[in-house]
Amino acid sequence: FGLLRRQDPELAQVLLDELERVRGGIQLIASENFTSPAVLAALGSTLTNKYAEGYPGRRYYGGCEVVDRAERLAIERACRLFGAEHANVQPHSGASANLAAYAALLQPGDTMLAMALPHGGHLTHGSKVNFSGRWFDVVPYGVRRDSELIDYDEVRDLALRHQPKLIVCGATAYPRLIDFAAFRGIADDVGAWLLADVAHPIGLMAGGAIPSAVPYADVVTFTTHKALRGPRGGAILCTRELAARIDRAVFPFVQGGPLMHVVAAKAVAFGEAMRPEFAGYTRKVIANAQALAEALDAEGMRAVSGGTDTHLALIDLRGVGVPGVEAERRCAAAGITLNRNVIPYDPEPAAVTSGIRVGTPCVTTQGMGPEDLKELGSLVARAVRDPGGAEEVRARVTALLAIHQPYLSEF
Ligand code: PLP
Repeated sequence: FGLLRRQDPELAQVLLDELERVRGGIQLIASENFTSPAVLAALGSTLTNKYAEGYPGRRYYGGCEVVDRAERLAIERACRLFGAEHANVQPHSGASANLAAYAALLQPGDTMLAMALPHGGHLTHGSKVNFSGRWFDVVPYGVRRDSELIDYDEVRDLALRHQPKLIVCGATAYPRLIDFAAFRGIADDVGAWLLADVAHPIGLMAGGAIPSAVPYADVVTFTTHKALRGPRGGAILCTRELAARIDRAVFPFVQGGPLMHVVAAKAVAFGEAMRPEFAGYTRKVIANAQALAEALDAEGMRAVSGGTDTHLALIDLRGVGVPGVEAERRCAAAGITLNRNVIPYDPEPAAVTSGIRVGTPCVTTQGMGPEDLKELGSLVARAVRDPGGAEEVRARVTALLAIHQPYLSEF
């Protein structure tokens, strides 16, 4: 870092400022985490220099024998960690993992069933502003109005009516466990492939804190940078039967050369996730999310579906009469970073929303426990209700951070 500071102080300052931002506030963004120094070391390595189109032992460039070892480690660890028959660790992101998975299984114009964006689905699950919505005929399913849980009867009815070639399960803002066995049954009934996009809960599955999608889905896509605590990127797990199709779809169909430094960092993260400490971490992430959801609920900020089984909670703010966009702004002013989020059947548009999404991967990595999360719940509630009290909330945030600092040095 000293070298970067001497050579390019302007850019070095950006890194310092970002570190300062993170150290100066509490991060409740459900899709973020703090990677270990070992993951960061792999990311900042010379492996970024190497072109390695193809796969280990089958490259289109010379000099790949060393980086092959990194990719083999990542593949073997992913397969062992998740009990999968095959892993592709090259997708640059969760979106490219989904693009490749769809490319492997579908033709443009084919029908797929996926969770509606306003009910918690991701952009790549059929939004009209995304390739998925433009290139495929996407039939959305949602959650029930009363329970705010996935309506498996609706999924079955839609599957029978539309005979999709692919059913996608998984979401970006769904706090409850997904019944992968039920989705498998529906997919089998209509002869569809089943894809589980578990970008969000994959870390919890790695730690064994929630049931895995791997035994049920033909293809599992995920990101490596959320609760899993790896580098920013994507990956795909699949059956032996689909391995060649998935690999061809990632390269050469969707991507060119893999980011070998990121592949190496994925190997490091998978290795970390195999340790017993990581299993403990994932259990704490969930206990913390439950403590936070309960604390917010007690403040009149209702947890959608009544709570959470995972690392995130979706909070309905209509009880306190503050729109999500304003709550996000007020929390930021008090040193708490979170995001506005639509809730199911939200009367407000996505730019405003009636809700916020909160998650605990970051604060748990920092060592916070349920008691801290209870306090954080009342701090969020105070910040949302009373913008005038922002400085007092910020003072408590600073006190919590003094005990639970992420990143003690600027490596
Ligand atoms: N799928 C789901 C369910 C997600 O939640 C996300 C990101 O939040 C993605 C895919 C896309 O991942 P990325 O942002 O790495 O493209």
